[in-house]
Amino acid sequence: MANWYAQRAWIGEMADDVLIEVEGDRISAVIPGATPPPDAHRLPGVTIPGLVNAHSHAFHRALRGRTHAGGDFWSWRDLMYEVAARLDPDSYLALAQATFAEMALAGITSVGEFHYVHHDAGGVAYDDPNAMGRAVLEAARGAGVRITLLDTCYLRGGIRSADLSPVQRRFTDGDVEAWAQRVSELTADETTKIGAAVHSVRAVDPTSMERVASWAREREVPLHMHVSEQRRENEECESVFGMSPTELAAQHGVLGPRTTVIHATHVAPLDVELLGTSRTAVCLCPTTERDLGDGVGPASAFSAASVPWSLGSDGHSTIDLFEEARAVEMDERLMAGARGIHDPAALLTAATLNGGRSLGWETGAIAPGYLCDLVALDPSSPRLSTSPGVGGIVFAATAADVTDVIVGGRAVVTERRHRDLDDVGGRLASAVAGVLG
Ligand SMILES: [Zn+2]
Repeated sequence: MANWYAQRAWIGEMADDVLIEVEGDRISAVIPGATPPPDAHRLPGVTIPGLVNAHSHAFHRALRGRTHAGGDFWSWRDLMYEVAARLDPDSYLALAQATFAEMALAGITSVGEFHYVHHDAGGVAYDDPNAMGRAVLEAARGAGVRITLLDTCYLRGGIRSADLSPVQRRFTDGDVEAWAQRVSELTADETTKIGAAVHSVRAVDPTSMERVASWAREREVPLHMHVSEQRRENEECESVFGMSPTELAAQHGVLGPRTTVIHATHVAPLDVELLGTSRTAVCLCPTTERDLGDGVGPASAFSAASVPWSLGSDGHSTIDLFEEARAVEMDERLMAGARGIHDPAALLTAATLNGGRSLGWETGAIAPGYLCDLVALDPSSPRLSTSPGVGGIVFAATAADVTDVIVGGRAVVTERRHRDLDDVGGRLASAVAGVLG
């Protein structure tokens, strides 16, 4: 694999003329102030580590621009279920591949796909019971991004009612052992990992939750779970179990250093303490949380409790990790009436290194030993030409400033074009039309 030579790069600080030597798919040396060797590929502009989107539901991309006018989380969920009901392995492959290609163009080199649409629209297993999961894995491969498929256990309609609505039937394997059996048939490779997820305290009973957690622990793979996105979830959990979703997860073995809880918007100080002491991570999804009117998660409380937090575009109302990163700071400013809560380097770390850890990839830093996942930004763009430092990048860059994307040492995007998939916008339009009918 050839070496890369960045005009300027973020290596924990900004450095010029950085030679990034590569062995296999990893960085073997980083040499600032180097003269360019003749055989190195040049990266123009400012190079940062590959961005990591730690929480995605690829099919939600079909809802962009169609659900934002009103309603609440629960009415949004009804629309999302309508799309879920129309997916099959072929349409899911097309939609997920186009969505992951949009991510690649936005500088996202790894994605965590929280995957729960497992079976056909009637709830019957396909001939290959993992047909949908494999479609998602193939989609990521085609789009050139790493994926951790967080295969999700989903067993019941809600905390108070075990009954599943007709559309939810395709999410369930019936019981947790059937879930474990199916997921165990999926295999990882160089750019894909198989992890596990508990959908939420709504969809999984405590005993099953415990089994999913032990399945993930035995295999030492990432485990994710939606937690406390909505106050209603907290109220129902308190009334049935007499404790918060985080406490319930803690009591049933879900928390730990390989676990990431998603959202954690409405958490109490005791919940934050439990996350901290168990070394659990959090993934915030600010553009989704604001789109759905969820609330603002306490990122500064997580930082104070040494809870690492990453970022996800979740419902894909936009796919732009720069926007997610600055939203954490900006939303907390509005709540606190104060500025400068998180420094720009910490926000960039959330969008890179912390996401990699959450998904089980050694990515997110331009340093020896890390995977060679890189993103180059155009410093002459109107947004960056006056302030191409880390503050300018985090507070002003957008996905449109990404020019080149490298995954495992291989170019996936060059000069704003995906090397394997042309016309990503057109692919998205036809894939979305395919599932909206
Ligand atoms: Zn989600």
